[in-house]
Amino acid sequence: MTSPLAAQTAPGAAPDPALAAAIRRDMPDLMTLYRDLHQHPELSMQETRTSGLLAAEARRLGFTVTEHVGGTGVVAVMENGPGPVVLLRADMDALPVTEQTGLPFASQAHGTTREGLATAIMHACGHDTHMATWVGTARRLAAMKEQWSGTLIMIAQPGEETSQGAKAMLDDGLFTRFPRPSVAIAFHDSATLPAGIIGYSPGPALANVDSVDMIVHGVGGHGAAPNTTRDPIVLAARIVTSLQTLVSRELDPLHSAVVTVGSFQAGTKHNIIPDEARLLITVRSYTPEIRRQLLDGIARIARGEAIAAGLPDDRMPDVTVREAEATPATVNTDAITQSTTALFRAHFGEDRVRATRPVMAGEDFGRYRLAIPGLESLIFWVGGVPQDRWDAAHGDAAHLPSLHSPFWAPDAEKVIATATEAMTVAALGALGHR
Ligand SMILES: [Zn+2]
Ligand SMILES: [Zn+2]
Repeated sequence: MTSPLAAQTAPGAAPDPALAAAIRRDMPDLMTLYRDLHQHPELSMQETRTSGLLAAEARRLGFTVTEHVGGTGVVAVMENGPGPVVLLRADMDALPVTEQTGLPFASQAHGTTREGLATAIMHACGHDTHMATWVGTARRLAAMKEQWSGTLIMIAQPGEETSQGAKAMLDDGLFTRFPRPSVAIAFHDSATLPAGIIGYSPGPALANVDSVDMIVHGVGGHGAAPNTTRDPIVLAARIVTSLQTLVSRELDPLHSAVVTVGSFQAGTKHNIIPDEARLLITVRSYTPEIRRQLLDGIARIARGEAIAAGLPDDRMPDVTVREAEATPATVNTDAITQSTTALFRAHFGEDRVRATRPVMAGEDFGRYRLAIPGLESLIFWVGGVPQDRWDAAHGDAAHLPSLHSPFWAPDAEKVIATATEAMTVAALGALGHR
């Protein structure tokens, strides 16, 4: 038995051609599953068909499967002797996007968002590749049971895109009803790496994401008599401009953050000064301290500009942080990141493993680490851009479809094969050896 952190020197570090060969044999099945999932995407927290398929696959492989954990979540446990408890996670939800990839198995699905909007649905974030990999990894680890010791927990999580799913599974007893992991590992397909390349960011990998609603009050009136009003459009415009100084003037220049006003709405007609304006703001950061600094700064600037505009005390802007929708930063912890990426380098070769920059996108995988003090946590990227596309764009991802684009069509075969191999290697590294 070895601890997960001794994995760097474990025998699993050697490239294992048998593993790659076994995955090659699994690929036709995994691609059939992938195409089926791609063709039948489901919106966040509505993944009923999807979760049923995954639960059935895990059950066939001998896992003890519990469904409906946090809504549509699936928890598949394989106890295999003493040793570390390792959690592997895939997310299941698709997006309200009309697919334009032209793939023969493109989605025709439609549904209704939680806001009640009728929409087309597409796996535009590649969670279908995550799920096919989840099944591929479960197959390999079940077949290799005599090589590892410990407890494997494979979870299929709903609602990543709405940042609801991890929380729902935790609230429904993920870490009390099932064994508590010491390590959690996940991957995401990447639209900024060529297919088959593995990327990872030590430390913060994805950001704290906060949504802030602001109502800027004014005093409305006739557009021809602005002196009789307090114009909320002018005031809100000043607030938007002043907010730009939060990052550029108040933040340590060596730190990173984003404050973006994504929506500015006010008024109905040319010659009416309305009595309010509404701003929707996204706020991104990597640490709790900078998050606090930005949120406090937004409230301070809103109030300060309103005072400067002569608004009375009872007409100060209303600033609401949507705490229930906040996503905490996803941090890759040192030990598991170092040991696993060392395994990747040994297994795949230096050329296929790259340190990448953190991104300001959000991912609720970070919640698992926060739920267990000391939990080792790693999310890595597996490149999905088809090589010919990558070459045509001269490796400049700005000229390629991003995740969430209606045109995002990863080289799924390469993503799933690479990710299945990587997740299996990572899990074997973190589990005990027999
Ligand atoms: Zn996404
Ligand atoms: Zn995603």
